[in-house]
Amino acid sequence: MNVVIVGGNIAGLRCAELLSNENINVEVFEKGNKGLYKICAAGYTKEAMNELLLPDYLIERDNKYVIGETRFGLLKIKKRIYMLSRPALHEYQWDVACDAGANVHEKSQVVDIDIKENTIELDDSTRVRYDYLIGADGSNSIVRKKLNLPFDNQLVLQYRVPEVVTKTVQMWFPEPYYYTYTFPHDTYTYIGCGIGKDHKKLKKYLEGRCKELNIDTSDLKLEAFPINLNYSGMKFKNIYLVGDAVGFASRLTGEGISQALTSARLSVSSIFGENEKYETGLSKMVEQMRRESQPYFDTYNKVFK
Ligand SMILES: Cc1cc2nc3c(=O)[nH]c(=O)nc-3n(C[C@H](O)[C@H](O)[C@H](O)COP(=O)(O)OP(=O)(O)OC[C@H]3O[C@@H](n4cnc5c(N)ncnc54)[C@H](O)[C@@H]3O)c2cc1C
Repeated sequence: MNVVIVGGNIAGLRCAELLSNENINVEVFEKGNKGLYKICAAGYTKEAMNELLLPDYLIERDNKYVIGETRFGLLKIKKRIYMLSRPALHEYQWDVACDAGANVHEKSQVVDIDIKENTIELDDSTRVRYDYLIGADGSNSIVRKKLNLPFDNQLVLQYRVPEVVTKTVQMWFPEPYYYTYTFPHDTYTYIGCGIGKDHKKLKKYLEGRCKELNIDTSDLKLEAFPINLNYSGMKFKNIYLVGDAVGFASRLTGEGISQALTSARLSVSSIFGENEKYETGLSKMVEQMRRESQPYFDTYNKVFK
């Protein structure tokens, strides 16, 4: 059996590791390089840790809980979040997948897919045949495009501030469907705003939050990246979508790492024919996604308590 994975990041490398552990022949094609920087606040939740236990050295800071503020007042959200560096996590996952036996190729972009012929085409015109194809290629997934599925790409904006601005992880919900966050790492802080298509509005909330925290943003680089929030199925005959490509991230908080890891595990279960595990896990994910796609005031009790 030959499994081809498009995209070697959180979801793709996790699939590669799990499949290779069972001696499946895996080829991962990643258009970037090992240790790449993905725009992300890099908060790794307890749920993510339950999927993939990380060694201590990757944890820049362990935040015991999140302080949130909504129109109902302050909330101490019982959610533990570990702060990581995405490049360091990427290097770690890359090494783990390679050690398990996966062939992980950097600077290899998939430019086309022939679904009838079960082949992908790389940017150097090489064609590779697959028995199973996994689209782990993020919110602008070429695999998803080839399956003619819709996208719902919503932006998150952030600044990387070169100092520790707050002692705790904080989330503010200025209005339904919008949040700002302050994620302190070891020597720096991500301050961001999500999630929506209205760049101007997100920027306004982000600048407002920075002003409240006395942060001068004039020399900081604004980072922006979309998260795909449309879920239209995960398995399409011998093709799977995982991570941001499948669309399970939270509209409420922008969390997507644990969902990337869980969807990776489920797709691998399905490839191994563990249908009950796959179906049960998938319904749980769909339920969680539906809960978290409501505005905060409808759901914060269910989600955070
Ligand atoms: C500003 C921001 C902050 C965030 N903060 C958090 C957070 O704190 N905690 C959290 O849990 N989630 C957060 N997220 C969400 C999280 O980053 C994503 O959900 C997560 O990265 C999804 O992982 P993935 O492996 O599915 O996709 P990605 O990490 O996007 O990886 C996809 C990979 O595919 C590669 N690729 C794409 N196309 C091709 C191609 N054609 N050929 C080869 N390779 C290809 C890309 O180079 C990339 O490496 C945040 C997102 C944003 C935008």
